[in-house]
Amino acid sequence: MHMFSLISNAIRSIGSFISDNTGIIVFGLFSYIFIAGGLYFVFYFWKRKELWKAKIQVNFPSYKHTIRDIKYSFSSLIVFGIVVFPIAWAKKHGLTLIYTPIDKYGYVYYFFSIFLMIVVHDTYFYWTHRLLHWKKIFKWTHQTHHLTHNPTPFSAYAFHPIEALVQVGIVPLIAFTIPAHISAIAIFLIHQMFLNVFGHLGYEMAPKSIRNKFFKWSNTATHHNMHHTNVKYNFGLYFNFWDKIMHTNHPHYEDNFDKVIARKLGKDIPKNSAVSKEEKINASTRKSLIKEHV
Ligand SMILES: [Zn+2]
Ligand SMILES: [Zn+2]
Repeated sequence: MHMFSLISNAIRSIGSFISDNTGIIVFGLFSYIFIAGGLYFVFYFWKRKELWKAKIQVNFPSYKHTIRDIKYSFSSLIVFGIVVFPIAWAKKHGLTLIYTPIDKYGYVYYFFSIFLMIVVHDTYFYWTHRLLHWKKIFKWTHQTHHLTHNPTPFSAYAFHPIEALVQVGIVPLIAFTIPAHISAIAIFLIHQMFLNVFGHLGYEMAPKSIRNKFFKWSNTATHHNMHHTNVKYNFGLYFNFWDKIMHTNHPHYEDNFDKVIARKLGKDIPKNSAVSKEEKINASTRKSLIKEHV
């Protein structure tokens, strides 16, 4: 009888935990569908003609590819949810480093913790990304993300479930190693979602003025777009730090960025630039590049 009441109490407490937290977690996860969907509607339907000049690759992907990316995005959200729920439970029971009140370590630390999470994620992403490109595991994990050579906002979370598990791994890593307020974690997660979706937008929305010192350290949509056409370069996420250190930046990245910006601003592209030669790489060559890599 005693055992029975223990089990029924545990089930009741798990039930009330799920009913208290499901709303916010599902809302957080599914906000991706609204952000990616909203941008997809604007850039691929509503303002497609006006914005076309800023398109990184001049052609559009087929709907078949977009539908596949949407399906994989949904499966990633389920995997993310499966990992986030136990962490929310651990937080409730004081097992993580997530703290309250907000000024516990002061506001300087509060803002520093957001920056620290971004830097840690950038490093985590680069090295797990390099690992996922290892021939032996690429085929059954990261190849799913590379099925698209011309990404759209829905490609951001188009992962094989195993890769989705690797990607969401940053959440427990942070929760158990970096003291952070829940609102700082929320800001970090919203930031990563926007950066990821804009990185897969398929359009270069960065202004020409970004081509200063900031450009040297911050990645652009063109940078990651080129990773989808040539899997051997451009592995980084937010910063152009690890690609620079590890010499994995595409040799024509800067030229390509300038070309896209020149088209966007209606200027001529220099004919003998490295990029005009690079453009001759057609779809079948890209396919063979992927095959060669696998
Ligand atoms: Zn990608
Ligand atoms: Zn990749």
